[in-house]
Amino acid sequence: MTTPGKLSDAKPTPDVSGNVAVNYAASNFLRPIIEADLAAGRYQGKRWSGHPGPATSQNQGQPDPARIRTRFPPEPNGYLHLGHAKSICVNFGLAGEFGGVCHLRFDDTNPEKEDQEYVDAIAEAVHWLGFDWKADGNDNRYYASDYFDWMYEFAEALIQAGHAYVDAQTPDQIRANRGTLTEPGVNSPWRERPAAESLALLREMRDGQHPDGSLVLRAKIDMASPNINLRDPVIYRVRHAHHHRTGDAWCIYPMYTYAHPIEDALEGITHSICTLEFEDQRPFYDWLLARLAELGKLNRPLPRQYEFARLNVTYVVTSKRKLLQLVREGHVDGWDDPRMPTLFGLRRRGYTPSAIRLFCDRTAVSKSDSRIEYSLLEQAVRDDLDPVAARSVAVLDPIKLVITNYPEGQSEMCQAPCNPHAPEAGNREFPLTRELWIERDDFREEAPKKYFRLFPGNLVRLKYGYVIKCTGCTKDAAGNVVAVQAEYLPETRSGTPGADSVKVKGNITWVSAAHAVPAIVHLYDRLFADPMPDAGDKDFLACLNPNSRQTVRAWLEPGTVAAPGATWQFERLGYFTADRITSTPEAPVLNRIVTLRDSWGV
Ligand code: ATP
Ligand code: MG
Repeated sequence: MTTPGKLSDAKPTPDVSGNVAVNYAASNFLRPIIEADLAAGRYQGKRWSGHPGPATSQNQGQPDPARIRTRFPPEPNGYLHLGHAKSICVNFGLAGEFGGVCHLRFDDTNPEKEDQEYVDAIAEAVHWLGFDWKADGNDNRYYASDYFDWMYEFAEALIQAGHAYVDAQTPDQIRANRGTLTEPGVNSPWRERPAAESLALLREMRDGQHPDGSLVLRAKIDMASPNINLRDPVIYRVRHAHHHRTGDAWCIYPMYTYAHPIEDALEGITHSICTLEFEDQRPFYDWLLARLAELGKLNRPLPRQYEFARLNVTYVVTSKRKLLQLVREGHVDGWDDPRMPTLFGLRRRGYTPSAIRLFCDRTAVSKSDSRIEYSLLEQAVRDDLDPVAARSVAVLDPIKLVITNYPEGQSEMCQAPCNPHAPEAGNREFPLTRELWIERDDFREEAPKKYFRLFPGNLVRLKYGYVIKCTGCTKDAAGNVVAVQAEYLPETRSGTPGADSVKVKGNITWVSAAHAVPAIVHLYDRLFADPMPDAGDKDFLACLNPNSRQTVRAWLEPGTVAAPGATWQFERLGYFTADRITSTPEAPVLNRIVTLRDSWGV
């Protein structure tokens, strides 16, 4: 299945505390390319006017203060997910590393499906992830739809130079005449129409005189090219549609393959980084920009496109269409459901921006497709939270423990470190009393082999408290254990000289029943039970994990204040966060981010 770049052999061994402190040095083939470009002085003399524009406006600018320019170009038609996080980290990361600037560009040239709601959510998610597009006094937040005038102007210039023509074939005819991988295409009967005629038609198209699908503008390249993308690709089409930013100003819209290179060039992008499916488009990208440079519309050096393999993660789907289906059909509670791989879902689950960045840094940027183990993402959040998360105790599946020789009404304070990695954070205190909540699983009437916790006659330590000896249990009429009894050994209190006088093999966590804070806790698991839910033509819905959410009533250590977004490590259980939407300090609702160790095996 899965090799995360070159990572599996580099997987470090956990140290004694179970932490992996090593930073994986994942390879990135783009680094040496950028280094070589900078060493060769490729961008020396490049000018930047402070805003996007064609050659005429850039020529009036200053030498570009950015050593390189990259961009993250989402289409505002959905929420960002883990795959986008990879692209954000690559683009903003490389710009940061090399003294460059990364633009946030909304690739909103398709009037359908795009919406302001997504624009806002995307900007928020990129910020949350820790990146900013402002630099050198420029906002660098751009909209491709702001370039429609230039795109149109360039289209007229291409026609006049004999590089484009208006085709009146039907969409079916165009498809049929495109040829196949083994056969060349057939020239359109309109291919040689005079430039003046194409120009007049394009203007009529722009002015709304032609219905959708009637005419298209095509680049005039080579219908026999072995690369089908060069067989006179369509660059403009008629679409009488309302655009969320330009309204009804346009009824023709550029095709993505035409728009994207122009967007890059207008913004002075040096390295246009995209995913592998665009590899076959690169010859058209270069052809188009070269023609526009010859026509004086664009300055050299022109942007260059580089493709890397998409991030795929086991047990995760990252297709926007499939994520939308999960939301629409109610398989999850919404875009920010803590099981969703959207950045808002991950945020709500308790994943930190630094954990996601760490995960992206640990996975290679390469040309070969692979699937990264989900457990790598989980390890990244553990590594990120372990040094900083406050420690606390929770009991998720409670059963009463009564210490029969502990006086009723008495209580004493026990102490534990706030975080064992940060002694300066000091200790926390919580009361021990006669009645405690413990995990149901910490008691067995009959102990299996190697079970060192409570069973009649056995000694265990109440962590940070006393050694106790189990004396028995109480059952209800149905035979279920409803309470456990034990006696404590008063001389064994933790932190006193007698603590080690009795050796025990088990340690259990507990909270005082009279003081514990009640909470709702969501125990989340992987949304899919299949490691490759989106492989082939699998029905991804059939791969949903029926146990991806379990909700329990738990007891928390007193003093655990569940302000929204607060995060803890509950001892023995894992990392948890107070749900940012539903939790209040009075009525805590917690999400389990991740267990302490990988229980899924490899
Ligand atoms: P989807 O397939 O989910 O609809 P998309 O590629 O159409 O995603 P865009 O909004 O166009 O979504 O993506 C913005 C940028 O993020 C693009 O440059 C795209 O290549 C990149 N990107 C999207 N998914 C991934 C991924 N899984 N790994 C790396 N980069 C990705
Ligand atoms: Mg896309």
